[in-house]
Amino acid sequence: MRRGLHMKLVLIMVLLILSLMTVVGAFLMNSVTGYYINDFYGQIASAFGQDNADFLRDLESPTEGETDAAAMVDEVLSAYVGVLGVDGRNRNYFVLDGTTGRYLAGSAEEPEGGLAITPNISAALLGEVGFESDVAADYMDAAIPIHRGGESYVVYILDNRATVRSLNSAMFTLILEALVVGLAISILLSFLLSKTMVTPLQRLTDGLQEVAAGDFSKKLEVTSRDEIGQLTESFNSMARQLESTIAAVRNERNKLDTLFLHMADGVVAFDREGKVIHSNPAAGRMLRRSFGPEDRYEDLFGDLFSLEQVEQVDGHLSGEREVAGRSLELLLAPFARGEEGGVLVLIHDVTEQRSAERMRKDFVANVSHELRTPLTNIRSYAETLEEGLGDLPPETARTFLGVILNESDRMTHIVQDLLTLSRFDSGRSELHLTRFSFGQAVEDTYRAVLMDAQKHAHSVRLEMPGQLPQVLADHERVMQVMMNIVSNAIKYTPDGGTIVISAGQGPGTAWMQVDDNGIGIPDSDRDRIFERFYRVDKARSRQSGGTGLGLSIAKEIVDLHQGRLYLVDKDGPGLTIRMELPVDGPAPEGGRP
Ligand code: ADP
Repeated sequence: MRRGLHMKLVLIMVLLILSLMTVVGAFLMNSVTGYYINDFYGQIASAFGQDNADFLRDLESPTEGETDAAAMVDEVLSAYVGVLGVDGRNRNYFVLDGTTGRYLAGSAEEPEGGLAITPNISAALLGEVGFESDVAADYMDAAIPIHRGGESYVVYILDNRATVRSLNSAMFTLILEALVVGLAISILLSFLLSKTMVTPLQRLTDGLQEVAAGDFSKKLEVTSRDEIGQLTESFNSMARQLESTIAAVRNERNKLDTLFLHMADGVVAFDREGKVIHSNPAAGRMLRRSFGPEDRYEDLFGDLFSLEQVEQVDGHLSGEREVAGRSLELLLAPFARGEEGGVLVLIHDVTEQRSAERMRKDFVANVSHELRTPLTNIRSYAETLEEGLGDLPPETARTFLGVILNESDRMTHIVQDLLTLSRFDSGRSELHLTRFSFGQAVEDTYRAVLMDAQKHAHSVRLEMPGQLPQVLADHERVMQVMMNIVSNAIKYTPDGGTIVISAGQGPGTAWMQVDDNGIGIPDSDRDRIFERFYRVDKARSRQSGGTGLGLSIAKEIVDLHQGRLYLVDKDGPGLTIRMELPVDGPAPEGGRP
């Protein structure tokens, strides 16, 4: 760029000087020639004019007895050479014959080949003053006819313009010299200009190239207050602006990248051709695969909607898919509909949501079912009683009333359990924490069920070390849990079974475990044992007065204490269930007490 602009500057300067010199030179030389011609004719006109009447009279008045008139005229003229400007070299006068134009006398010899008959001589020979100037000719002349002694003569003044020519050539040389000096100055000036203009421009260009390459740290020094200085300032502020804009964009991008990386939902982005341009780890985890640019939208989600369908949609489209036992909800939406746009697929794991929905539906169905059964019983017994009023033997009537009372007790039981669960769900259930002996609680439970166990001919054993810690817990609720798991063991063990109640302590915990050798639970049901209304054998449970809510309430209570209630894996028949409680009670929010 430096060379380009510099050459242009030199060229402009040279052309400027050349054209200036040519115009000035032509004008000067023309003026000098014009001045010289005008001066010549002015001099001749004033010599022969009215103001110089003596001269014309001397020329035309013959002296007495003169023999050679031409010589006399020559003599008069030679006396007036100063007035005529005749120098005998470049300007001469000649006396010509008035009829033939022949040379008679003059300040110079007749030129070889005679004088040329110019238009002015021709005019004078016809008796008129020849005073026409011919700019194109290389001479100036004037021919004045005179009469002397009855003869006519022509006084002819001829100037060969040598003076003006030499003047012009001297001027030409001068202009040429001025041109050379002018050119030298112009080249020097263009160097100076290039230094003051091109160098800052070059620095600006270098800076721009660095900015274009992504380096915004460069700050150009402002060296002048002119337009280039302003340009440099604008450049600096533009670079600063760009730098902060790009930093903001980069920051946003980093935020988005981090968000993508850590968000629980999966995201896969496709370009307009359907190629994967971005995917986050969650997407890979959820769809159980990895993504690369070779993966195509059509192969991954084409079964739900075509790429065109998603691109056309306002808002988003949604679909579902099951992958490895998980329910995934897919939201497909177009982004930036322009050239650079594409399609985003958001993957959301809704397994928990779906199972909660299923459990809620099951729960409502179960509640209805559980309440309807006793109600139906109550109604049918009441109807029978009403129909046979008076006819029924009192024994039977009493039995029927007993069933009605039993069933309503059962309903009350279910409703109470449901209320307890609902209190847990709404978080309204508070624990009344007290310190009590865990060992004592286990022993109380053992004693409470002993009678019942004996009824079923079970052998119940209590295995407990002498010393067990005090626990901080809700005594009544913990007893409820203990009773529930021990009663279950009695209920679900065929008569004559063996039940072992054991207790002990671990680091910071106290535990109680109930082993039986009863019917146990099939492997497929083990995970669901704590679900509400879940019962392996509905008929058996109902028969024994169970509602299917006992273990779920027990689990809620233990969870509230931040303990654990779980089935212990074991070989052989029966079931082992274990409860662990933190000795110091549940930790308040933010840490343990
Ligand atoms: P229920 O009121 O029916 O006893 P629970 O919630 O206490 O309700 O128990 C849920 C189900 O778990 C029972 O219906 C039964 O099928 C099973 N279960 C509980 N304890 C035992 C056990 N010790 N042995 C075998 N099955 C059990």
